Amino acid sequence: MTEIPYKIYLEENEMPKEWYNVRADMKKKPAPILNPGTLQPVTIDELSHIFCTELAKQELDDTTPYFEIPEEIRNFYKMYRPSPLVRAYCLEKKLGTPAHIYYKFEGNNTSGSHKLNSAIAQAYYAKKQGLKGVTTETGAGQWGTALSMACSYFDLDCQVYMVKVSYEQKPFRREVMRTYGAKVTPSPSMETEIGKKINAEFPGTTGSLGCAISEAVEAATTQEGYRYVLGSVLSQVLLHQSVIGLETKAALDKYGIKADMIIGCAGGGSNLGGLISPFAGEVLRGEANYDIIAVEPASCPSLTRGKYAYDFCDTGKVCPLAKMYTLGSGFIPSANHAGGLRYHGMSSVVSELYDQGILRATSVEQTKVFEAAQMFARVEGILPAPESSHAIRVAIDEALKCKETGEAKNIVFGLTGTGYFDMVAYQKFNDGEMSDYIPTDADLEKSLSTLPKVD
Ligand SMILES: *Cc1c(COP(=O)(O)O)cnc(C)c1O
Repeated sequence: MTEIPYKIYLEENEMPKEWYNVRADMKKKPAPILNPGTLQPVTIDELSHIFCTELAKQELDDTTPYFEIPEEIRNFYKMYRPSPLVRAYCLEKKLGTPAHIYYKFEGNNTSGSHKLNSAIAQAYYAKKQGLKGVTTETGAGQWGTALSMACSYFDLDCQVYMVKVSYEQKPFRREVMRTYGAKVTPSPSMETEIGKKINAEFPGTTGSLGCAISEAVEAATTQEGYRYVLGSVLSQVLLHQSVIGLETKAALDKYGIKADMIIGCAGGGSNLGGLISPFAGEVLRGEANYDIIAVEPASCPSLTRGKYAYDFCDTGKVCPLAKMYTLGSGFIPSANHAGGLRYHGMSSVVSELYDQGILRATSVEQTKVFEAAQMFARVEGILPAPESSHAIRVAIDEALKCKETGEAKNIVFGLTGTGYFDMVAYQKFNDGEMSDYIPTDADLEKSLSTLPKVD
């Protein structure tokens, strides 16, 4: 048997030249996104007012299986890709498990996460359309950072609405974005009509993702030559992120490894969707079977405790409606939640795959997540993002199950990023001040009661 190296690196010329659109292989497609005014499926025309035309087309295309990755994007990818598929030998040894653990590491770029894979694609299409700039929201800051890097590469203006609480708590994230030329505004701001309205209604609010999305959309639609871009949830983002799964599969195939389990953390569903796409495609075509697991925080459990229904994607209710697993657009995770993955809904593609039983979902509490993060950092060397550590937690738990059963399963998980900007959360954990909060059924009923009525 060939020895599996610590890191499997593909050659540059083995990098994917096309993205894979898993929707093409789904017999039952994700439900169409709806115009919030008419409740009819949105058209490319309507969507093109918000998004670049090429991206609007990708968003609505559920039949084309492969999209060529333009050469300019592939050249940019070469700055930080192919990303390694790492055999976690040290973690296996620490756990004493017969399982073989692999992780796809997406944190090896300045923005520190997988989000750059889609940011560069979205900036490219904006530039190609001759736009002046793009607007977006950012929560913890990874997406805003990735987008500011991508925009500076293509010389596009970048306006970021950053959730006020992170704007104040993560000043260094803000400075990274400014270094790459982005304008960063705390949200809710007094610069948009929706921001003023939210500030008037909730004085002193520290903001939310849904609220920042509404502001960014307003900014895009009221400035000539601007469009809005989003870092997760959308089907176009999953398409771009399929580069993660395609590389993972190519690396596994190179050494004849068949994955048994594939694990990813799930916020809006983009890294998970991208990682699992080629594997889910095989399952959908009846070619293979995998145990695919989405991991979400117990404090924001959209797949495990949400409803599969049409909902608003933003607080201001200006975005199209999407059918997804959701906790209701008014849901805000408890203030002590430090692990990211705080969006109220889930990608409609991931939601539909979950509904069809192609993947399963589980939720984990944050102290358990940080215990896993700490163990991983100590044995594997990489300081993981709290988001990524949700996947680490479940990979460890599954490897420990293998220890009991003696099974040598191949466990693959997505290590989406690094945690250097999450030191306040790590500090809380190290000081023993981190607690777990799980929303009650009454909490969830309250936010779910605001779901729009759509038949
Ligand atoms: C944004 C982010 C996530 C969650 O977003 P998804 O769209 O669910 O992938 C996970 N990990 C890191 C490091 C992130 O920055």
